[in-house]
Amino acid sequence: MAINLEDPKKLKPLREQIHQVAMNMLRPISRKYDKAEHEYPTELDMLAAMADGLAESGQGEGAGATGVRRDSKPDDGTVKNGANMSSVISVSEMCWGDVGLTLAMPRQGLGNSAIASVANDEQHERFDGVWASMAITEPGTGSDSANIKTTATLDGDHYVLNGEKIFVTSGDRSDAVVVWATLDKELGKAAIKSFVVEKGTPGMKVERLEHKLGIKASDTATITFTDCRVPAENLLGSPEINVKEGFAGAMATFDNTRPLVASMAVGCARAALDYTRDLLQQAGVEIDYDRPAHLQSAAAAKFIQLESDYEGAYLLMLQAAWMADNRQPNSKEASMAKAKAGRMGSDVTLSCVELAGTIGYSEGELLEKWARDSKILDIFEGTQQIQQLIVARRVLGLTSAELK
Ligand SMILES: Cc1cc2nc3c(=O)[nH]c(=O)nc-3n(C[C@H](O)[C@H](O)[C@H](O)COP(=O)(O)OP(=O)(O)OC[C@H]3O[C@@H](n4cnc5c(N)ncnc54)[C@H](O)[C@@H]3O)c2cc1C
Repeated sequence: MAINLEDPKKLKPLREQIHQVAMNMLRPISRKYDKAEHEYPTELDMLAAMADGLAESGQGEGAGATGVRRDSKPDDGTVKNGANMSSVISVSEMCWGDVGLTLAMPRQGLGNSAIASVANDEQHERFDGVWASMAITEPGTGSDSANIKTTATLDGDHYVLNGEKIFVTSGDRSDAVVVWATLDKELGKAAIKSFVVEKGTPGMKVERLEHKLGIKASDTATITFTDCRVPAENLLGSPEINVKEGFAGAMATFDNTRPLVASMAVGCARAALDYTRDLLQQAGVEIDYDRPAHLQSAAAAKFIQLESDYEGAYLLMLQAAWMADNRQPNSKEASMAKAKAGRMGSDVTLSCVELAGTIGYSEGELLEKWARDSKILDIFEGTQQIQQLIVARRVLGLTSAELK
């Protein structure tokens, strides 16, 4: 099967529509919510209702966080541009508008992607329309997610959760939190399962919100679970502890969400490049993509270098999403896309600040904000270093015990 690197014809209108939404609905309120940290962007309610309406009518199907569910229809051998492709395209366009606001969109949480990735059909239906955040990180556990200490103990037809989760994106505003907890610490990572804990469940408490460098429109919460009873049917996937499968089940979510985070970096970088190109052109800098960079002005040469860095990330993002749509294992490619796009997002946005001089550093424009917002995309859903580690393991054929 071959990948076509042009936008699929059927997804062109989607890209154009979402670009308009990003330009007319997100950009105008971008600075407002950068300043008003922790204030809920009420303007998003209308946007979320529109997205729900599109999804219901079938038009925007799969174009968001829930678009990562792998197709269960029999494979007919044809090339597919499905939900994963429409998700990376729509999320990148939204992030061209604003990354923080995109992360704050109701019902588009990373927990929704987790549910879409690993829930069974009954759970998928039951949690349809629920806004879900994702809680893995703990005070002593970040990159080493196999080490989580939050426990889940079966008691009758409930699991009892105890532990603390930090840095939960949308943890305060979402309707439910997908919590990673261990059924038995002795059995290692195979015993880690995810649980949908609905807001208002006794024993679950939002303790505080973080103040951050960027994505200030998105709330980031610390949540504690004290003897928190969760219905057994809210355990996502299988309750069996399959030591042979190890962490693979839980990690499968990341194969679908990492291309999405890559697409956020792609969108944010595109915003900075588009704006900087206009500024350079206004300043009389001519950028000629067909001539060698060393024959052009330093600013034009730098800009062309940034565009090629962007293009590399864009293509890796497309590849990872395309492989997911076409049922190919994509762990390595998802991590490659996330590593390249995360680093590119930071490099490109900060270089655009540099190229734009005082305009770049001023709060009068959004370039400085994009440079702050993009950094998180190289950190959450696995840092730059962790993505490189995963790629190295896959390329060298080594296990996580063999290459740490
Ligand atoms: C704004 C924000 C939102 C977040 N949202 C969520 C969320 O919704 N849900 C959630 O669960 N978490 C979330 N996180 C947490 C995020 O996923 C973690 O911060 C991230 O995984 C890194 O973990 P850590 O901070 O504990 O750093 P550490 O794991 O302590 O890492 C510190 C540094 O060491 C490096 N490092 C670690 N191990 C290795 C290694 N083996 N080899 C080489 N280098 C290594 C890391 O790359 C990093 O640079 C969020 C974080 C932030 C800042």
